[in-house]
Amino acid sequence: MSAPECKFQPALVTGANRGIGAAIATGLAHLGHPVAIGARSLSDADVLRRSLPGQSMSVVLDITDGASVRQAVTEVVDRFGGLGILVNNAGGHYDLNARASEVTDREALDALEINLLGAWRMVREAIPHMRAQRWGRIVNVSSRAGSFADSERNAPAYSISKAALNMLTVHIAAELRDSGVLVNACCPGWVRTDMGGTDADLSPADGADTPIWLATLPDDGPSGGFFAERSNTPW
Ligand code: NAP
Repeated sequence: MSAPECKFQPALVTGANRGIGAAIATGLAHLGHPVAIGARSLSDADVLRRSLPGQSMSVVLDITDGASVRQAVTEVVDRFGGLGILVNNAGGHYDLNARASEVTDREALDALEINLLGAWRMVREAIPHMRAQRWGRIVNVSSRAGSFADSERNAPAYSISKAALNMLTVHIAAELRDSGVLVNACCPGWVRTDMGGTDADLSPADGADTPIWLATLPDDGPSGGFFAERSNTPW
């Protein structure tokens, strides 16, 4: 089977009802991709969907729930006829002022549940569809907080879960080498959202730039990398 054209590939963005996820979904829709807005609340997703050009859909998606993940991917494939682009954007548990020595098991597990396992569940469900068409792009929206080189050593549970997401990226990319599926992680920068706060220097559209670039890489693009501002950034 020959690989399909990137430009018509359907995309699913997790946590797309607000913040950077909404900007990624909007950007991909404006590039002509059919876009599925993954959100825990359908009505939240519908608000964005009504503003998007082209083909779009809202899909209920809680990435901490395996059944929800499975159902969401099935709905997208049924509606759009496939799934080429997965942006694992949903994230949380930003424990900025916590001390690593005081993080409880519950807090650590909550961070891993959303930032690592959520993306892992999504990848597991999406990969068979990408492998089947020998084309796919997986973008894990991580953070420099999860970088061994760059982390400011704050937000411990969050940072550690993002470091784990970075390692997941490396593993999945290695597994999918030569499959036509490119897998990368990125940091969107410090972005004005509920998580980033009002002092952040970037707009959600700015923060969406690198994830969108990775979601639409050409076939000879990188895989298994960590990027910020469209450039390699240290792990
Ligand atoms: P945000 O404004 O807090 O939005 C988080 C999104 O994730 C919301 O749509 C939220 O949905 C969704 N979400 C949370 N838990 C979920 C779950 N269990 N299932 C599905 N969706 C869930 O955050 P943001 O700033 O846009 O961040 C987006 C990504 O960028 C995150 O992965 C974050 O770690 C990363 N990042 C952000 C910054 C920054 O400066 N903002 C910097 C570095 C990295 P609800 O509306 O239902 O809560």
